[in-house]
Amino acid sequence: MIDLERPGNDDRYLLYWNAELPTSGVADPLGLTLRVGARLSDELSYCITSITPRARYYSFFPWAFKRAWDALGQNTELPQVMSHVLSDERAMALGAVLHHGGQPCEGGALQGSNGAQSIASDLGRDPIDLRAWKHLEDKEGGFAAYKGSLINLGVFLSEEQEDRNDDKGDFDEKQTDQLSAGRLSPLGMELARSFSKAVAETAYLQARPDRDALPFELLNEFGGRAGLCELQKADGCDLEPLRSLFFATEIQGEDNSHYRRRMSLLLFMYAAKVADANGLVLSREVIDHLTFYRRLKSPSDEQSEIVITIPEELDDIAERWRVFHFHNYLTVSLESLLAGIARSVRGHPAGLTIEEIVQDFDSADARVSLADKLPLNPTESFWDLTPASTLARMGIETDALLEIGQDGSEKLRSCKMIEHQLRSFLVDEGMVTGPAGPAIAGILLFTLAIRFRYATHKRHQGWNRRKVLDQTNDVSLPGLLDGLESQFGSDWWQRSNRTVLKRVLSRHVIRQHEAMSYERGVGGSPSLFHLEGTRIVGNDINRDDVDLGNARFPSIIQILRDLRLITDQESRQKLTNDGAALLASCIGS
Ligand SMILES: [Zn+2]
Repeated sequence: MIDLERPGNDDRYLLYWNAELPTSGVADPLGLTLRVGARLSDELSYCITSITPRARYYSFFPWAFKRAWDALGQNTELPQVMSHVLSDERAMALGAVLHHGGQPCEGGALQGSNGAQSIASDLGRDPIDLRAWKHLEDKEGGFAAYKGSLINLGVFLSEEQEDRNDDKGDFDEKQTDQLSAGRLSPLGMELARSFSKAVAETAYLQARPDRDALPFELLNEFGGRAGLCELQKADGCDLEPLRSLFFATEIQGEDNSHYRRRMSLLLFMYAAKVADANGLVLSREVIDHLTFYRRLKSPSDEQSEIVITIPEELDDIAERWRVFHFHNYLTVSLESLLAGIARSVRGHPAGLTIEEIVQDFDSADARVSLADKLPLNPTESFWDLTPASTLARMGIETDALLEIGQDGSEKLRSCKMIEHQLRSFLVDEGMVTGPAGPAIAGILLFTLAIRFRYATHKRHQGWNRRKVLDQTNDVSLPGLLDGLESQFGSDWWQRSNRTVLKRVLSRHVIRQHEAMSYERGVGGSPSLFHLEGTRIVGNDINRDDVDLGNARFPSIIQILRDLRLITDQESRQKLTNDGAALLASCIGS
């Protein structure tokens, strides 16, 4: 199920990863984010989602479940167990806020912290009956967000394991977010025991939140041990077991998502190291540039680039993140074309044909605006050029590549950060709403196409292809390129931009948006336009917000912070001693 939300300025997007997507018209208008995009990021940061940023919940919940089973007995029904777990979660949320003098834990609040802050400031509510405090809307509280990740990490016994009465807790990569009986696996038990060391001897353990109101002082003491940021001090308790969990130290083999998560965490640690060494803040952009171009922008001079050599051990995972970024750039390109169409058809109650829309994209204003940014002439039409001649203007000589195949691919692999520049025009400078937006989106698509075809290993192209489960509805770069080749032949680079992009507009933007609008489910939003024969009739809605970016980035960084592997110093991120030692032991540098 999808939970797409954009809370205030928090710059976080809530995307559930673990189920198939009803797409909604405006939230994910071409299905790029929640289909292939979500599958790529699922694998890269398996079980670390945009809504599960705090490491400590991964030991806290097992502990709370164990405590509930111990107290209630093995024959208890799951809802009763859940209500016990929920009380402990409330005690933790409120306790941590009390412990921090009314503020939430450092580095991001516990779920329910807002309510906890108002309770903490009201001494009239001391002692408090936790049963009567509804800290979150969801009846499963904060567990709702972490549940899928905990299940897929193997913290609970699966249904089959229960049936077999087998508690081997073998690793199983079948994703689900359905909790069967809520019984802990050996891994879950181990996490529970490690957390219990952290809270041993707190008075809370003797208290009865299911029966009594509890004094603030008692919760304060509990929060001081059980809170999220308190994990960092939990040496000898759950810190090491959680590191093992996230780095999947118990899981063998390199062809599974847990291994992929381990390598992603190491890649992000490596990124922290090189960013710091070069005076850069570890940002989404750093990860993007590091994996897409193996270069970073110099902090002192925007024009100069720093070449980064990625250690061999991280080469494969860096290439997979590069594919992820290819897909993100593709999303920006196609959604910008979509935004252009939605703007173009406004004020035309009878709609426009694709032909007319492309004419509109080729206005005098569009030509001037394009020539202002890129080496194109204001008197010529971008739509009359070919992809090959357009790329040549951008400094990418395609002839050699197209004639003799892979030669020159290394040069192409790292040449100028064009995609970054084009995205920046569209997103940062807002050109997506201007007349040149569609042409810039087209150029972005061509640069992606050539780099993907000629400077990306077949193995990683294949990985992207394997994330396409539904040929009709899943848009991917390899699928789009296959389509162009099958329609126009492998020399489609020599057709006119008009011809090539009309196919892209028709097939991957207009029909795709229609298909996604029909499919949309829960909380769906209206489509931007609809088709009437060959005419595209607008619904008077714009949709210019095209850059979802790397939604899991903040969670991955926060998990590394919680595990005390990176730390913030002078607004930059540095590896801690533990982090440096771990990275060195894994990549031998
Ligand atoms: Zn704290």
